[in-house]
Amino acid sequence: MCVFCKIVEGEIPAYKVYEDDDILAFLDISQVTVGHTLVIPKKHYENIFELDEEGASKLFKAVTKVAKQLKTSLQIENLNILNNNGKLAYQSVFHYHIHLLPRYQNDKFSINFPTNKLSETEFIELRDKIGKN
Ligand code: ZN
Repeated sequence: MCVFCKIVEGEIPAYKVYEDDDILAFLDISQVTVGHTLVIPKKHYENIFELDEEGASKLFKAVTKVAKQLKTSLQIENLNILNNNGKLAYQSVFHYHIHLLPRYQNDKFSINFPTNKLSETEFIELRDKIGKN
């Protein structure tokens, strides 16, 4: 059983901040920023590719609730939502989870998106390749 399934089963303790029949939210043990929270489906899905529409719907509904809960309780106006799928994308626990990261002035957490330029032709080819599926 994976570590998050153990948290769901109560075998491992967690600082829970939200729970319903299908979803659990708890403070990440490694607090990237204050209030860093993970929202997970209780059912084990490894990643976004396994998650079904019903699971996604329930999960994101809870994400909006927890985000508002963080906004009110921590009086924040800024929040990143992150989800990593696969080792190359820095997924470390292979039970689907969404990171909610409250942001503060000078919190030292940075996300740098490198920018790559494509030609018009490359954009069209790429759009056709992805869009056809
Ligand atoms: Zn699991």
